[in-house]
Amino acid sequence: MAIRVRLDPIACDGYGYCCEILPELILKDEWGYPIIDRNEDIPAELLGRAKNAVKLCPKVALSLVVVESSVARR
Ligand code: SF4
Repeated sequence: MAIRVRLDPIACDGYGYCCEILPELILKDEWGYPIIDRNEDIPAELLGRAKNAVKLCPKVALSLVVVESSVARR
């Protein structure tokens, strides 16, 4: 199992708080809106800040989801 960040682009107003809190996983586009790789697992050491980014988003546009591990199975 892995945890990833999800963005609701309709709800997001581009305040950019999340990009400041978690720059390792959330980049900004040229207008200041977040860019999040839907397929990138959150490393354990960043999970606390990822939770803070979700909690502090003023538009409730971020969430964490649990997915099957991205590690290839044989
Ligand atoms: S903190 Fe929320 S509203 Fe602000 S840019 Fe990030 S997702 Fe969008």
